[in-house]
Amino acid sequence: MINKKEITQKHVEDFYNRILIVDEGPNKGCWTFNAANDRDGYPYYNFNKKTTRAHRFSYIISNYDKEEKINIIRHTCNNPWCVNPNHLVNGSQQENINDKIKDNRQAKGSKTGTSKITEEQLISVLDKILSGEITKTKQIVTILNISHTNIIDILHGKIWTHVTNNYNLNEIRNKVIQKILTIDEVKDIKKRLLNNQSQRSIAKKYSVDPKTIYAIKNNQSFQNVKI
Ligand SMILES: [Zn+2]
Repeated sequence: MINKKEITQKHVEDFYNRILIVDEGPNKGCWTFNAANDRDGYPYYNFNKKTTRAHRFSYIISNYDKEEKINIIRHTCNNPWCVNPNHLVNGSQQENINDKIKDNRQAKGSKTGTSKITEEQLISVLDKILSGEITKTKQIVTILNISHTNIIDILHGKIWTHVTNNYNLNEIRNKVIQKILTIDEVKDIKKRLLNNQSQRSIAKKYSVDPKTIYAIKNNQSFQNVKI
């Protein structure tokens, strides 16, 4: 299992630097991942000493902001070497429906009194995020003693909305959720750099360190991403 929270910008860069974009032939448009493959023909990616299928990792980093359960990742192009996120889908329709039913049950659970936190506790945490006293979701887990998934649901306005309605959740999320750039965002950043938009304003737009933008501008990272 890949723990999303362990993924850093460095992993994403390392991953994208091993992609070859296929320009011609029957697999035109596919992105080949340069690595050894398992016996079913899927290339591996080594993530924090754990082997994972490369296309699965690609799907996860490309859909980093989406809150969804990752099922079996399937290819729409039938090319097991391909890691182009546009050729990947998450699970079967039935699996996705089952997950929604399960999620709904969980969401109701925390609204019907089974939850362990109070409105006051949540308000206190939200205020501490805004003041900069809390900077990581890990700290919220410790303080509220609820699961990371529940916290993410709260920060995305899925549960506890009677409290979070009074807050700008976008602003709150930007303060505590680590930002990972997707390939589409890197493309947009490259376009903005070409149009001479300032590195500082781009960094602000994407809530990343200006050094990240600097590295993209100077081809120190994401060299393979073409616009
Ligand atoms: Zn493909």
